[in-house]
Amino acid sequence: MDMTPPRAVLVRSARGIAAADRLPSNVGRASRVHALIDALGLGGLAQVVEPAAATDAELAAFHSEEFIRRVTGSDCGGGSDCGGGSDSDSDGGSFGLADDCAPFAGMGEHVRLAAGGTLAAAAAVVGGAQVAMHWEGGRHHAARARAAGFCYVNDAVLGILRLQDAFARVLYVDLDAHHGDGVQDAFAFSRRVMTLSVHVAERGFYPGSGAAADEGRGRGAGHSLNLPLQRGASDSRFARALEPVLAAAVGSFRPQAVVVQCGCDGLGGDPTRALNLTPDALVRAVRGVLAWRLPTVLLGGGGYSHANAARCWARLTAVACGADVAAAADVPDHAFLADYAPAFDMRVDATLAPDENSDASVDAAAARVLAALAAHASRSP
Ligand SMILES: [Zn+2]
Repeated sequence: MDMTPPRAVLVRSARGIAAADRLPSNVGRASRVHALIDALGLGGLAQVVEPAAATDAELAAFHSEEFIRRVTGSDCGGGSDCGGGSDSDSDGGSFGLADDCAPFAGMGEHVRLAAGGTLAAAAAVVGGAQVAMHWEGGRHHAARARAAGFCYVNDAVLGILRLQDAFARVLYVDLDAHHGDGVQDAFAFSRRVMTLSVHVAERGFYPGSGAAADEGRGRGAGHSLNLPLQRGASDSRFARALEPVLAAAVGSFRPQAVVVQCGCDGLGGDPTRALNLTPDALVRAVRGVLAWRLPTVLLGGGGYSHANAARCWARLTAVACGADVAAAADVPDHAFLADYAPAFDMRVDATLAPDENSDASVDAAAARVLAALAAHASRSP
């Protein structure tokens, strides 16, 4: 019997995909992502692991018991997971369950499987896999007792906590166009977790945190890294900001495992209108991380053009499996082919939106982070 650990694990199940499909911000996205992965023949390159629904005890590693009761629906006398939000006005609001995080039918199932999938991905790399993917994860905004920004559970935090059972130092890299505030806040006081988020930071852009001056607190000083960008960053400016910081972070922090939140709402044409990336930018970043040859968990996140999210994460799946899907490859015939009109290929082009960054501005953003890292390193024993 071959006991060699698998190189790449893909965490998914029909139940997990169906649960993610009901997330109001991304209805039907997960089905499209996995249908494209399979149409491209990538599903068979990874070992598929089916997620278990996270238990209350597993969720309680980060979330409060009252929040868990509310968000999983066990407060509602059973039935439909509090769907419809009839009791959500005042009480629901206190847990963030209103507005962009209104309760929905299937909320409890979504929470348990989003968390369970990322816990399964973490367990896979603890067990020896080089890389484990969970595209339904990456809900980086949720706090201990509060849903936020379309995130009803913070599976990324739960996954990092699971990794800490086996690894002394975990690096979290957040590529989503929005600041990874929930993960940064959870570990702001920790020197065992370094968080690095690259995102748009400008007045009025959600969630409003993630300034370069956010560097961590107490024992965690120097372990929260932020690369704020202006809107419209191109692939080359994104890489120019990120790559020196990633290199310095891995060099000084020496992580034993890495979690990458691969939110793709920074792609050109995303309704978020934040950055102006193509999937090449995320492919390049993830390839760079995988080249460290550390146990790595890849998560999803934002991405509101579902066809483009599927294109991006299918290409990242290929990268994780050591395969390649050309940027201009045709989208094979499959159930959702019509979504890929008019070109029916894998390209996501940058738009004509102006890049409000300059080489000098991204160099300055990177330099601030490098200085913070160096200052912390000089204070460390
Ligand atoms: Zn986002």
